[in-house]
Amino acid sequence: MSGASLYDVIVVGAGSIGMSAGYHLAARGLRTLLIDAFDPPHTGGSHHGEPRLIRHVYDGGAHYVRLALRADALWRELEDRTGEKLLERSGVLNVSDPDVHSFDGRFAYAAQEGVRYETLDAKEISRRWSGWTVPDHFSGLYEPDAGYLFSERCVAAYRREALAAGAELLTDTAVLGIEARKGGLAVKTSRGEFAAGKVIVSAGAWFKSLEPSVKLPIRAVRKVVGWFEADERLYGAGHLPGFTFGGPSGGYYGFPSIGGAGVKIGRHDGGRPWQPGERFEPFGAYPEDEADLRAALREFLPGAEGRLLHGAACKYELSPDDQFIIDAHPELPGVLLAGGFSGHGFKFASAIGEALSEWTQSGIPPARPFAVLALPFPVGYRSFNPIRRSF
Ligand SMILES: Cc1cc2nc3c(=O)[nH]c(=O)nc-3n(C[C@H](O)[C@H](O)[C@H](O)COP(=O)(O)OP(=O)(O)OC[C@H]3O[C@@H](n4cnc5c(N)ncnc54)[C@H](O)[C@@H]3O)c2cc1C
Repeated sequence: MSGASLYDVIVVGAGSIGMSAGYHLAARGLRTLLIDAFDPPHTGGSHHGEPRLIRHVYDGGAHYVRLALRADALWRELEDRTGEKLLERSGVLNVSDPDVHSFDGRFAYAAQEGVRYETLDAKEISRRWSGWTVPDHFSGLYEPDAGYLFSERCVAAYRREALAAGAELLTDTAVLGIEARKGGLAVKTSRGEFAAGKVIVSAGAWFKSLEPSVKLPIRAVRKVVGWFEADERLYGAGHLPGFTFGGPSGGYYGFPSIGGAGVKIGRHDGGRPWQPGERFEPFGAYPEDEADLRAALREFLPGAEGRLLHGAACKYELSPDDQFIIDAHPELPGVLLAGGFSGHGFKFASAIGEALSEWTQSGIPPARPFAVLALPFPVGYRSFNPIRRSF
């Protein structure tokens, strides 16, 4: 392959994870090309319709808590470098029916990592935030240091920082496949072929479009979010924290009304399947888009069930077990895969981008944050014999 056109790394998909990786790669002095089918940040993937929750009290293991804390530190670093407000530390209130979902599994990991939290009963929740209606037997977990990230601003900030650090970005260019060639890798796109020593694939909801080069068990689904007019005194930013709630009728998450934009609410479970190439229906295409969100507000946040101010449709990219897939390609040496962020990946994007850049540069799984996570990193995709593989 010709040395002139050879990049150290090509990142396929410059969205939440890819743009962060692109910055961290370029900052390490690697010749980096980011390729995206759109012009990120954009409204075709998983990062639009900001904000996104960032929580630190995670179930699933202490590694998630450590990764969340590392990600939080990196978001703050990005804020400091850019002078832009990216993270609002509003606190996050989690409310749940203990018969459906218990918080118990999370406490040990949080305490171990020194993350502050409070447990609250239904009465205490309604006393502190009178806009909430919580059944008596529900329980609450409040994280005072959690909050939300302005996701589109974050992607835009990483884009600017990546370009300033010397990365190149090719927008409106679809990657069609990746092939091993003598001396490196060829990335085939709608604008010709590019060569690199290493490739990171962070294609979000479009992994399927890269088959047969990359074959991951990722299932994309259509998700909707709505912004509803609310009593600003009870539901405005500055008073209401970010929130999640779960009961027999489903799992939801949301945000206070920011600058009068309305209370934002979305449903975490369910969603209509979608595949690359298929038509993607906008918010409101189905009656349940609004009705479902409205019903949840009526039950838990009744004063926030006002006029629908805005709606958006977005994509989740689900792995089989909701764990992230971060691993080396099983057949293409030099290719790293990062996908299946299953509706909870944005908060981690800063730290995962950093880890991918370390891994790419060194050829071995990174010392941080993965080592901090006590290898083997259990969010790898099992069937790929995760993490220990080097390339
Ligand atoms: C409604 C909604 C609410 C969410 N809420 C939260 C939350 O509160 N907290 C949280 O942590 N997470 C949340 N998430 C999840 C989080 O946003 C995603 O996990 C994260 O954005 C996924 O990042 P990604 O880089 O994989 O995907 P994306 O950001 O979509 O990036 C993928 C990029 O790859 C590009 N691409 C794909 N295929 C190709 C190709 N063949 N050629 C070129 N480019 C390609 C796309 O154009 C895109 O820019 C939410 C997601 C949604 C949809």
